[in-house]
Amino acid sequence: MEKHNFYAGPAILPQSAIDATIEALKDFAETGISLAAISHRSKEFVGVMAETENLFKELLSIPEGYSVIFMGGGASTQFAMIPFNLMKKKAAYLNTGTWATKAIKEAKMFGDVVEIRGRDFTYIPKDIEIPDDVDYFHITTNNTIYGTEIREDMDCKVPLIADMSSDIFSRKVDISKYAIIYGGAQKNLAPAGLTFAIVKNDILGKVDHKIPTMLNYQTHIDKESMFNTPPVIPVFTALQTLKWIKKMGGVDAMQKRNVEKSDLLYAEIERNSIFRTTVAEENRSIMNVCFVMIDEYKEFETEFLQLAIEKGMMGLKGHRSVGGFRASLYNALEKKSVEALVALMKEFESQKA
Ligand SMILES: *Cc1c(COP(=O)(O)O)cnc(C)c1O
Repeated sequence: MEKHNFYAGPAILPQSAIDATIEALKDFAETGISLAAISHRSKEFVGVMAETENLFKELLSIPEGYSVIFMGGGASTQFAMIPFNLMKKKAAYLNTGTWATKAIKEAKMFGDVVEIRGRDFTYIPKDIEIPDDVDYFHITTNNTIYGTEIREDMDCKVPLIADMSSDIFSRKVDISKYAIIYGGAQKNLAPAGLTFAIVKNDILGKVDHKIPTMLNYQTHIDKESMFNTPPVIPVFTALQTLKWIKKMGGVDAMQKRNVEKSDLLYAEIERNSIFRTTVAEENRSIMNVCFVMIDEYKEFETEFLQLAIEKGMMGLKGHRSVGGFRASLYNALEKKSVEALVALMKEFESQKA
């Protein structure tokens, strides 16, 4: 049966990227050695790393003066690396959900945190006042768990830092507005184990304290992501995903495709008499669509999920902290998967309402 992969992360990847990885696991770049067993210092893998960095920069139109680096540790390690590398005394954080909350917890170990938040996480607060005397301002552009997204690149007087774990490569971004963009790669780019950061070079080197070598962005920039052994397999798959994005028409084409898919699903949620969204209209994510059944029908949520699984739709259960449903529509998800979900929602409505 055809599967529709709506998982939030690790998540769907282009089939071509998975197939190329399988081939490389058998024989990497005609070396006669598996990608799982090749030295990261082999010229073939050094080539893969360089190509990944270059294509990453090309697809996101990353300007001069920025480095792209790959590490392990996940976005969760970045939560500590950001303040470790940048915070002298004080930073401001926009708290828009679970991941932002975790980033704030780490930052508090390094200095004062000005936390800006709304009354709950169903929307992105407007008219945010960022103090001038902070070392940086941190945002989470896509809130994977709550399904809200900041889709404009904001003007900010202090260095702007963004966790883009779950929306990198989903839309065009004006990189020049950011000092650092980082994320775990397992939502839209690669299998779990890879972390990326786009770092404006001149933001570094301003703190007085020492930074452990592995947690210092400068180390990874100087050694071109090869200071220690990088996650070889996820890097290879990331390169295949980037090649696929390029072949499909680049980030603009991804954005168009993602808007189409999410418009289709939000329209059905609005039309359908038994479902509703949980998010303010102007802040809806194009990556993670969160919705619930209206109270009268809540008892049917499990039944709906079961039916979805029977039809090959995987990963639609909402995050355990939110409940309901979440359909993740990452780049590689095809429109026909959203159409299948919409058809099921219509069918369910005709049975129950
Ligand atoms: C998944 C996710 C994280 C956590 O990433 P790890 O790589 O598992 O540490 C952080 N931020 C956002 C926005 C996420 O979606």
